[in-house]
Amino acid sequence: MSIPTVESHTRISRYGLVNAFLVREEDGLTLIDTAIKGSAKKILAAAADLGEPIVRIALTHAHGDHIGSLDELRAALPDAEVLISSRDAILLTGDKTLQEGETGKIKGGFPGAKTKPTRTIEGGERVGSLEVIATPGHTPGHLAFLDTRDRTLYCGDVFSTLFGVYTSAQANPLFPLPYFATWSKEIELESAIELRTHEPSALAPGHGPVNIDALEQIDDAIAKAAEIGTKG
Ligand SMILES: [Zn+2]
Repeated sequence: MSIPTVESHTRISRYGLVNAFLVREEDGLTLIDTAIKGSAKKILAAAADLGEPIVRIALTHAHGDHIGSLDELRAALPDAEVLISSRDAILLTGDKTLQEGETGKIKGGFPGAKTKPTRTIEGGERVGSLEVIATPGHTPGHLAFLDTRDRTLYCGDVFSTLFGVYTSAQANPLFPLPYFATWSKEIELESAIELRTHEPSALAPGHGPVNIDALEQIDDAIAKAAEIGTKG
């Protein structure tokens, strides 16, 4: 009944560390994130292998390791839609100013991009087969994308799977980068709990391999982060 998750997308990985994903839709491919600078060639080659055009670029958040190749790709794909949350669209300009209701410090690298979104998107909307889920915390406007056909969850940096499944509310001692770049650990943990309620069949993160049948690992990651607490 359900489509095997491994066939629903193509993972493009740089050094096994940073991912972008191509998701098949009826009208072409949706690219989720663009990885670090210099990844456009590899992403375009993967799309060519699939024999489909990239018709839209959906960004989970505006950190440099997710938007790094946006301008290069935009130059090659002038007609593609570019989608990001309205909140992270501000960060995409390189502006780290706190917005109304936000406290703390927005962390991580925001090199910005020349490319402007063609449209901003928010939780509850659809992008082709993908349900957009607001998952603030890592950045204030972070988004996750759930493929409603097979329940693959493109979770951005809410979870990482490199050397184990972790939320970004807790430092993975072997890969602490997502933790150090997280704005609010408390809100990040709430978003991780929210994503769990969608019962994903596979976890496709910004960093690390795609984990199929990851519910138990997700539960463990949430429990561990809750145990250490998110204050301070
Ligand atoms: Zn990030």
